[in-house]
Amino acid sequence: MDKKITVLKGDGIGPEIVDEAIKVLNRVGEKFGHTFHYTEVDIGGCSIDKHGVPITDAGMETCKNCDSVLLGAVGGPKWDNVAPEIRPEKALLAVRKELNLFANLRPTKLFLQLADASPLKPEIVGGGIDLLIVRELTGGVYFGNRYTKETNGELVATDEMTYSEHEIERIGRVAFETARKRGGKLASVDKANVLDSSRLWRKVMHKLAEEYKDVSYSDVLVDNTAMQLIKNPAQFDVLVTENMFGDILSDEASMLTGSIGMMPSASLSDTSLGMYEPIHGSAPDIAGMDIANPIGTILSAAMMLRYSFDMPKEADAVEAAVSKALDDGYRTADIMQDGMQKVKCSEMGSIICNNI
Ligand code: NAD
Repeated sequence: MDKKITVLKGDGIGPEIVDEAIKVLNRVGEKFGHTFHYTEVDIGGCSIDKHGVPITDAGMETCKNCDSVLLGAVGGPKWDNVAPEIRPEKALLAVRKELNLFANLRPTKLFLQLADASPLKPEIVGGGIDLLIVRELTGGVYFGNRYTKETNGELVATDEMTYSEHEIERIGRVAFETARKRGGKLASVDKANVLDSSRLWRKVMHKLAEEYKDVSYSDVLVDNTAMQLIKNPAQFDVLVTENMFGDILSDEASMLTGSIGMMPSASLSDTSLGMYEPIHGSAPDIAGMDIANPIGTILSAAMMLRYSFDMPKEADAVEAAVSKALDDGYRTADIMQDGMQKVKCSEMGSIICNNI
């Protein structure tokens, strides 16, 4: 297959980690007979420096007219004081909006080789953690009306949380389809004992559950979910939830593995076009030193293969190659342990390529 990938390397460690993901994609192409065509677009601080805006209109068009987008990270102290309307992260929000990326997928996988890095006790994480949060990304309280007005001599602030049936249904479908591609188990997280928006959420999810009888479905209240993630994270396969609950729970979940450099993410639309990026930022403190961990970006490329290109075998091969690199004792500085072999960012990329 031929696929067009728009590459947004961005700032800080962005170029270094994305180069390693491209190396891995090229190896996948060689091994499985695919050709990936890359078009680079400036984004974030580097685009502000060159073009005066965090992404140009032409760059945005390139993002819209490809099969998938691979992103490093944007921002850094150099651009902390630019005008708010051209801040580096404005470009990310603009790409999410223009591409209608309403579904954010954040897997949390604890590689057993790195179990020591988890803040949880070995008896809790010893069996491994492998869950995925599907977060609704373009609705709910973050996008509702908000206002502050004076009432009875004091200020009163209001943020509205709104969800329509179609918004819930489309994220629900992503979640059920994703559960089908994984362990076949879906938990829908809401606050239906209090919120109307959650009661509608639950009603739509129950209707979908009738259609996806092969997926084992349950409802969990958000407060209980926060507790269960710490108490027994291995019980979860896929979790689906609205925007704000997902924001909070996905950060909680990502910390269970203790290593930010390892975590990938995907933002999906209702077409196969998606954007894939590690969850961390541009790490300006280690930029240009070839010591960043490229695994989060490489696993993001694996998600691209799985979700945008429907290449599950290829995605499995990349994930297995990462696991083998860890089994063989290779570690970048952020995950270094006694007795292991410390490697640079570019070396880790090459080791993973060789494992494919
Ligand atoms: P960060 O995630 O960039 O860094 C936090 C810490 O984790 C740093 O010590 C860094 O060295 C380390 N780290 C991060 N990724 C790593 C990797 N792959 N390998 C090894 N170590 C890694 O968060 P921050 O320092 O708060 O933010 C730095 C810049 O990134 C800011 O300008 C922020 O706005 C931006 N940011 C961008 C995104 C994005 O592009 N999606 C997300 C978050 C932050």
